[in-house]
Amino acid sequence: MRNAVPQEIEITKINESKISQVDFENLAFGKVFTDHMFICDYVNGEWQTPKIVPYGPLTLDPSARVFHYGQAVFEGMKAYKDDQGDTFLFRPDENFKRINKSAERLAMPEFPEEYFFDGLNTLLKLDDQWIKSGFGNSLYIRPFVIATQPSVSASEADEYRFMIICSPAQSYYSGDVSVLVAEKFSRSASGGFGYAKAAGNYAGQFYPTKLAKEQGYQQIIWTDSNTHEYVEEAGTMNVFFRINDTLLTAPVSDRILDGITRKSLIALAEKQGYNVEVRPIKVSEVVDAFNNGSLKEIFGAGTAAVVSPVKAFGYKGEHYELEKQENSYASYFKKSLMDIQYNKAEDSFGWRT
Ligand code: PMP
Repeated sequence: MRNAVPQEIEITKINESKISQVDFENLAFGKVFTDHMFICDYVNGEWQTPKIVPYGPLTLDPSARVFHYGQAVFEGMKAYKDDQGDTFLFRPDENFKRINKSAERLAMPEFPEEYFFDGLNTLLKLDDQWIKSGFGNSLYIRPFVIATQPSVSASEADEYRFMIICSPAQSYYSGDVSVLVAEKFSRSASGGFGYAKAAGNYAGQFYPTKLAKEQGYQQIIWTDSNTHEYVEEAGTMNVFFRINDTLLTAPVSDRILDGITRKSLIALAEKQGYNVEVRPIKVSEVVDAFNNGSLKEIFGAGTAAVVSPVKAFGYKGEHYELEKQENSYASYFKKSLMDIQYNKAEDSFGWRT
């Protein structure tokens, strides 16, 4: 890795914060951004001096490769403020590792660790007043890298821009969701890049999700691209099933994103003594479990919503409504994870930074 020693960040502060114009009680997810953003360009084989500048539009050449070939990767993470006013990140080293894993798959240069954390910490300190304390409030952090090199030649670029933007957030999903199990569409394919947080993976989800919405479902449970017999992810979350008292989730693969919430829930469940099975799960097994009454819960897990309970699923023209559970695993996990994130848990598993 070149330029591993961080250079001084050049900081240009805003003249006047726009925070007073923001209604923190009614935030739509991802629409409002903080006062500053972090930028670091990759030119001539090196990451250049990082900058923090007022948040605002970019000027890019229309031929920049990101616009044509989607050479772009990103991350989603959050900063939380506890009741004492201290700010925490949840397992940020995992996000750092994952953005570079995604970048490698998209033939993009690795971003140096020191730049990532220096940039992030400096940005969070500058925009600290945007991080509100209170359970459920957070600052959603979006690091991303785009290919900026001007040229419509279809090959990897040699100029990139790494950026971090931040958006104050409340909780992502309101209420339990209905999901449609995919019979034809896939989110990703074997040998592809589903395991990368690459922009194109998400663009390809919109059309099948739009069709599912027309049928009254909010999200799709993605099935494997080879057979469509196995469940893989739910929307932009990893997916868990509770059959009787066993917690099941699919193993990660080149088609599935290695979610940080997912791996945290598995660790929490094991500590709690729950029976956890990480193995391929057939849709038919889920339907059978529904029919014999052993399917207790389905929920998605991801940074944005933490845990998102599923109230119903559709498959092959049938609609299955789940019964609401007392003492659900979903609410146990949501509370346990949020207690760690908001510095209320005795054992933080070393996950708070
Ligand atoms: N799967 C996909 C496709 C996602 O986009 C996300 C959100 N990053 C997840 C799973 C959950 O990952 P994490 O828990 O790291 O947010």
